[in-house]
Amino acid sequence: MKTIQIAIDGPASSGKSTVAKIIAKDFGYTYLDTGAMYRAATYLALQHQISHDQSSQLLELLDRYPISFGRSESGEQLVFLGDVDVSHPIRENAVTNAVSSFAAIPAIREKLVALQQEIAQQGGIVMDGRDIGTVVLPKAELKIFLVASVDERAERRYKENLSKGIETDLETLKEEIAARDYKDSHRETSPLKQAEDAIYLDTTGLTILEVVDKIKAEAQKYL
Ligand code: C5P
Repeated sequence: MKTIQIAIDGPASSGKSTVAKIIAKDFGYTYLDTGAMYRAATYLALQHQISHDQSSQLLELLDRYPISFGRSESGEQLVFLGDVDVSHPIRENAVTNAVSSFAAIPAIREKLVALQQEIAQQGGIVMDGRDIGTVVLPKAELKIFLVASVDERAERRYKENLSKGIETDLETLKEEIAARDYKDSHRETSPLKQAEDAIYLDTTGLTILEVVDKIKAEAQKYL
């Protein structure tokens, strides 16, 4: 059966991973959360008190504790550093607020992009991130650029945190999201930007399933 590559890029908390996971499951494709890889590298740096100007030390640590993926019994995607499951700690605030600085390091990007491209060779894939359509999978059949207003993204993150029992301040969330967007779109190497051949999809006011259906309809054109 023919399989395709689906690249989903967009700013922080635009719903990329939620829709990418559903589409991958429905199509029987691999799902790759590239943000989780940059988060894992950042977590490793923070654990070893390495700053973003010490990239060679971080590269050595990534050789010692390679990033890999697994699956829990309930089907949830797990992220490992060496043999340690870091799926939960990489979502903590300290990592979220530091990740853009580490993700801007060219040598780190080079290493993680190579790994992402290797994983994509296995067949049908849905990959989400910031540079998937522009750098990682420039030949992907379907490229989506997913956006939503800062207000809506902060509200979504606020509700998600509440459901996990984490109390956060909505205004702080808005500021953090806007700051991460700014850093991700203004870095020199592979900044967040829409690929020329990507479809721009504003999800403000749409439900998750409406977004999923729109992307699946586009994907069907290639299948
Ligand atoms: O997708 P998520 O919000 O988990 O990504 C965390 C961070 O990782 C982003 O803010 C960005 O700095 C970095 N990232 C990146 N390139 C990707 C995916 C994520 O630079 N392809």
